[in-house]
This record gives sequence, structure tokens and C-alpha cells, in this order.
Amino acid sequence: MSLPYYHQIGKEIEVFEHSYKNKIPFLLKGPTGTGKSRFIEYMAGKLDKKLITIACHEETSATDLIGRFIIKGAEAIWLDGPLTKAVKEGAIIYLDEIAEARPDVIVAIHSLTDHRRELYIDKLGEIIKAHDDFMLVASFNPGYQKGFKELKPSTKQRFVALSFTYPEEKIEAEILVNETDIDKATAKKLVAIATKIRNLTELGLTETVSTRLLVDASKLIHSGLSKRLSTHVAIVEPLTDDVEIIEALRDLCDLMI
Ligand code: ADP
Repeated sequence: MSLPYYHQIGKEIEVFEHSYKNKIPFLLKGPTGTGKSRFIEYMAGKLDKKLITIACHEETSATDLIGRFIIKGAEAIWLDGPLTKAVKEGAIIYLDEIAEARPDVIVAIHSLTDHRRELYIDKLGEIIKAHDDFMLVASFNPGYQKGFKELKPSTKQRFVALSFTYPEEKIEAEILVNETDIDKATAKKLVAIATKIRNLTELGLTETVSTRLLVDASKLIHSGLSKRLSTHVAIVEPLTDDVEIIEALRDLCDLMI
């Protein structure tokens, strides 16, 4: 299987490899669209391990991860959840946006994230020792301004943690070219727009322009949509619903591309 494309930003590949070797869980911190998921896909491929990704949301519970009984005919049959599967098979489990999940998820992973490396399945009264290759990875977005969910320090301290942010301009333009085959000059202009908007902190945007938005804009441009319209719909509109800010950002894009 070919590795997904991933452009290294710092020392994250090395850090991950050492965490894996030492069986320490890994926490990726950072805003949405900064390459966290892509990085984990790449690392799983590089280490030749199966990757199981769970997009956590406010309803995600320990039962969803560990497993449940289902009724089949007159019998109750136990079905392993994704975490139990990963623990048994020696896969990498990626709990994306872990802080969004219900608190019992944090309790469930407790004994997996220290020297015990065990999963307790209370409904079966079983304790499962993790496969040697098992690794727990989670991501967390510390940046939400409103209604954000924190991760307790005692939970964070169970992980090796690394911050992901927007790559420097040259690398980000390279990523756009690689991901979408867009021409270099346009890629540079899109990155310049992103840098400009990222620096406009006075706009009070909850989240600013991510690499993902730039990739989307590049794709639209590459497939033939006009450059200006592409920046309006792929960069400006997803960022804010404030009519005045939309207008100002559209003007800015029109000037820069
Ligand atoms: P996150 O998980 O942080 O929300 P993703 O991993 O989904 O972000 O990244 C969004 C998109 O941005 C990816 O699909 C990819 O196209 C691009 N991307 C961001 N950073 C990188 C990188 N370092 N190398 C390659 N692609 C990247």
C-alpha cells in the first residue's frame, strides 16, 4: 500500500516513532485542518500498522468504543467495539477530537494510557492486555473560543503531546501543489491570502483559514472554477456568517488573486 502524501513540518515523525517504540500514547493538539489526521494516516502506513479512526462527538460513549451485547434470535451476543478490536489486534486507534466525547471515554482509556496497558470490559468482567503493537492516539483542539471543552491536565499528562499549526508559507504552497496539481504561482497567492487573514486577529474569528480550506480552494480552481469565486466559497464563506466580515474578506481575496 502506498503511503499517503504528508509533508513533514517539524520533528513530528521522529517524535511519533519514539513514542510508538516506548508505548506512550500520543496527543495531537491544534486547530482543525492542520494535517493531524493526515499525519496519523501517514505514520500508520510508515509503521505498517492498521489504523482505526473514531471521530468523537458529544454522544460518543465508552460503550461505543468498548462494545455491547446485541440480541440475535434468543441469544445475547457480545460485539467488540473499535477500541477493543484495536487493543486485541495491535492496531493504532485514533480518537479524533477526544474532548468532545462523553467523560466515560476518558475513564475507559485510563488503564490503557499507563504502564498497565489494559482494557477493562465491565460488561464482561474481563481485563484485556493490549497487544504489543497497540497504540492510542488522540487529537484535541485547544482553540475553541465558545463552548469549548477542555481536556483535564491529569488526562493530558498521560500523553506525549505535539502542537500542530499552519505550515510556513513555502511548505504550505508545496502542499497545495502536491495535493491538487494547482500551479505554483496561484498556490503562493492562496497562501498569501491565508497568511493575511490569519494575521487579522481583530476579526475575532473562532477558527481561521486552515490548510484544508486552501486545499479545497485549490481543487476548485484546478477544476476550472474562477479563482475569485473559489476563494469566496472555499475560504471566506466557511469562516464566518457575519455579512460585513464576508464582504471585507471577499474584497481582500479579489485584491490578492
Ligand atoms: P486535521 O486532522 O488537523 O483536521 P487534516 O489532516 O484532515 O486536518 O488536513 C486537512 C487537509 O490538509 C489534508 O487532507 C491535506 O490535504 C492537507 N494537509 C495539511 N497539512 C498537510 C501536510 N503536512 N502534508 C500534506 N497534506 C496536508
